[in-house]
Amino acid sequence: MAATTTAFNSLLQTLQTDFPRITYCVGDDFHWSPSARTVYFRAKSTDMATLLHETAHALLGHTSYNRDIDLVHLERDAWSKTVELGTRYGVNIDNETVETALDTYRDWLHARSLCPKCRQNGVQTAENTYTCVICSQKWIVNDARSCGLKRRKIN
Ligand SMILES: [Zn+2]
Ligand SMILES: [Zn+2]
Repeated sequence: MAATTTAFNSLLQTLQTDFPRITYCVGDDFHWSPSARTVYFRAKSTDMATLLHETAHALLGHTSYNRDIDLVHLERDAWSKTVELGTRYGVNIDNETVETALDTYRDWLHARSLCPKCRQNGVQTAENTYTCVICSQKWIVNDARSCGLKRRKIN
């Protein structure tokens, strides 16, 4: 199936028919909103892999996560479901797409867990809070994955 908006729109229609409990809606970017039970997608997109990926989150009932490492696990699950959906709907999801996406989350996790003072890996002690095991520095991270990483030292 060629990556055209026509192919994208017909996949979208098929998904809406097959999964009537999920709402599909145009948004600024692709994401799954558990509270609205809605998969948002970009208008005029051709990215069928991402559409299937957000659908996978919806089908798996993914809601929120408490620890960053959980997010990486959720993403891994969502991607294996995406591959499954790809087979079902004739969308080729290659390994590289999956690995690149998972690497992004691994890099994100790594960056968040680095101590801003001594650059060692810290442990997450609460939602958005890390503590360094070497120097005991604590820091807060923002939770917006798409808005860039911010680390702020706290005492
Ligand atoms: Zn995801
Ligand atoms: Zn440290």
